[in-house]
Amino acid sequence: MINIAIDGPAGAGKSTIAKAVAKRLGMIYLDTGAMYRSVAYYVLEHGADVNDERAVEALLPGIEMDIRYENGMQQIYVSGKNVTPYLREPHMSKAASDVSALPCVRYKMVELQREFAASHDVVLDGRDIGTFVLPDANCKFFMTASPEERAKRRFKELTEKGSVCTFEEVLADINKRDYNDSHRAVAPLKQAEDAVRIDTTDMSIEQVTECVERIVKEKTK
Ligand code: C5P
Repeated sequence: MINIAIDGPAGAGKSTIAKAVAKRLGMIYLDTGAMYRSVAYYVLEHGADVNDERAVEALLPGIEMDIRYENGMQQIYVSGKNVTPYLREPHMSKAASDVSALPCVRYKMVELQREFAASHDVVLDGRDIGTFVLPDANCKFFMTASPEERAKRRFKELTEKGSVCTFEEVLADINKRDYNDSHRAVAPLKQAEDAVRIDTTDMSIEQVTECVERIVKEKTK
């Protein structure tokens, strides 16, 4: 199986690039952030606090996560319900970041991600894929961009979808998530030693996609 890991902070362009590269190379794309968002959604739906480790741990066995592809798009079903439409709402980003810091949640998601990668040619994007989930991935990338540029992209995406927010709020959210994701005890966000670092601040989507595709082809030929 070919496994490609793309890690980096929020808004660096990982999912856009991972999707494009997966399509060009005929591989599947796995959005691991959506898995943490699904857990956060389930916890909030059950009226629990995403920071309450005991409460979350008690809910975890009830989460039966099924990842499907419908018309080429990833859909996550949790205990039979398609939760995908609810995952990108702004409050869900913070909730996912909080819940993902809990070791019990990480271990469950990491196990599912490893199972998935063992049976599919897949491009995964996340925070800890190259360092923790798949240390033997065929290719690893660490994608980043300045916080302001990442906030600019996220702000554009959100306002295009009709969300009411200010640029300052989005930037504050990005900074908070960067801090959370890099300071948690288990599998924090950091670049794997053998990952190729790409700073996308001044690059177009096409340029980054081509760069990643070229490196993948070289490494997997
Ligand atoms: O990538 P996305 O913004 O959808 O991820 C939502 C949150 O899930 C991140 O802020 C991060 O805290 C968490 N996450 C993680 N490990 C991953 C993917 C996402 O901790 N592999």
